Amino acid sequence: MEQVITRFAPSPTGYLHIGGARTALFNWLFARHHGGKFILRIEDTDRERSTEESIRAILDAMQWLGMDWDEGPYYQTQRLDVYRDYLQRLLDKGLAYYCDCSPEDVERRRQEALKAGKKPKYDGRCRDKGLGPGPGRVVRFRCPQVGTTVLNDLIKGAIEFENSELDDLVLQRSDGYPTYNFAVVVDDVSMKVNYVIRGDDHVNNTPRQILLYQALEAPLPRFAHVPMILGPDRTRLSKRHGATSVMAYKDQGYLPEALVNYLARLGWSYGDQEIFSRQELIEKFDLDRVGASAGVFDQEKLLWLNAHYIKEKPAGEIAGLLKPFLAQRNYPEHDDAYLERAVTTLQPRCRTLQEMADAIAFYLVEEVDYDPKAATKFLKPELAAPLRSLIETLRGMEPFQEEELEKAFRRMAEEMGVKLGKIAQPVRVALTGVTASPGLFEIIDILGKETVLRRLEKALEFVEARAQ
Ligand code: GLU
Repeated sequence: MEQVITRFAPSPTGYLHIGGARTALFNWLFARHHGGKFILRIEDTDRERSTEESIRAILDAMQWLGMDWDEGPYYQTQRLDVYRDYLQRLLDKGLAYYCDCSPEDVERRRQEALKAGKKPKYDGRCRDKGLGPGPGRVVRFRCPQVGTTVLNDLIKGAIEFENSELDDLVLQRSDGYPTYNFAVVVDDVSMKVNYVIRGDDHVNNTPRQILLYQALEAPLPRFAHVPMILGPDRTRLSKRHGATSVMAYKDQGYLPEALVNYLARLGWSYGDQEIFSRQELIEKFDLDRVGASAGVFDQEKLLWLNAHYIKEKPAGEIAGLLKPFLAQRNYPEHDDAYLERAVTTLQPRCRTLQEMADAIAFYLVEEVDYDPKAATKFLKPELAAPLRSLIETLRGMEPFQEEELEKAFRRMAEEMGVKLGKIAQPVRVALTGVTASPGLFEIIDILGKETVLRRLEKALEFVEARAQ
C-alpha cells in the first residue's frame, strides 16, 4: 500500500467544534494506524470570516487533544501562487474561462431560469467569449455538461451525480482569491493527499472536485464522508445542545483522553469495547468500522469516560491539572504532597476537574461553611456531650492516623451505646460542611490533628449555641 496521506483542513472562522475535532481525529488515527502522514491545513481564504484568534484556538485544541501533525500548518493565503499556477494550466487547456457577468446579473438570470422551470445554474454566457483577465472578472470551470460523475465513497458507497446538474463553478473570485472547491483540490493534489476524510456536509461538493481532479489529470484520492454528529433531539449538534467547542470541554474539566476516546467512538466502533487508550485506538482504528449513520452526542457517556480517566490517572498528574481550577477559586496554597493525598480520595468520586475543584474545598479552605440542611439535621444540641468527649480523646491521641482513629471512634460509639454512624455523620458535617465526602477516617488523617480539632470545636460551639 502506498503511504497514506491525510489532512485536516479547518476554516478558521471560529473555535474548533466537536464535529471538526472528530474529523481531525479520524484523519489523525487513520494516518497513525497506517504509518502515514497527517497534514494540517488552514483554509483561510475567506478573508472576512477568518481570524487569527480562531487559528490560535484551533491549534490549541489540536495540541490539547494530542493530535500532532507531520506537515503544516499550511495557510491557503500563503499559497496564492500555487493556485494561480494550477489555474493557468486549466486556462491553457481551455478548461477554464474568464467571465465578466456581474453577480447581480448571474442572480437575476438564475431567478428567470427558475421561473421558466429550468435549472437555476450559471447559464454559460461567457463560456465561449474568449475573455482575458480584467477587473471584476472571475474564472469559471468549464464543467462537462453530459455524463455522470460517481463518488465511490468508502463510508456511503457509490453516489452518482448528473454532470448536467453541475454549475460552471467559479474557481477564482474577482479579488484573485481561489474558491473553496478549487483551493481544496489544488492543495490535496499538490500535497499528495490520498485519503480525504471529512464531514458529509461536503458530499455535494465532491462531484465538482472530482471533475477538477480529472481536468488537472491528477489521481483521485479515496473519499470517506463521515456522518454528522446529532444532538439528543436528532438535529445537527449545535450550541442549543450545550458546549460544542473543544476548549469549552477543557474549561469544564474534561481530560483530553476522555474526549479523544469519546469522539473516536462517535461513529466508529470495535465490538462492544468502549474504553480505548490512545495506543489502542491507533492500533484498531480503520475506516471499515466507521458507520454510515449519524452518531448522537451523549453527554452522560462522555462524563462516564471522563470519570474513568480521572480515576485511572496518577494522582500527581490530576493534581497538576487541577491547579488552574483551584486558582480560579482562590483557595489558600498547599504543598503538592498534601494536594495529592486529597486528590487521591476524590478521584473515585468526581467526574470532572470542576467537580473535583469544588469537592476539594474542605481540604483547602481555612474554615468550612455548613450546608444549612446538613447542619440542621446533624449538628443537633444533644451532640454537645459526645463531641466534647471526642475532642478530648482526639486531643490526647498520638499518632493521629487512620487506623487508630477508627478504633477511637468505635470505642466511643460503644461507650455511648450508639452506632458508629450516629457519630460519624455529624463529624463529617463538622469537618466538611456537607454529608457526602470521602471516607471519614481518611479525611481526618489527611486534614491533620490541628484542623480536625479546630473544626470539631467550632461544631461544638455551633451545637451549644443551638441548645440555648
Ligand atoms: N475547510 C473545509 C471546512 O472547514 C474543509 C474542507 C475539506 O475537508 O475538504 O469545512
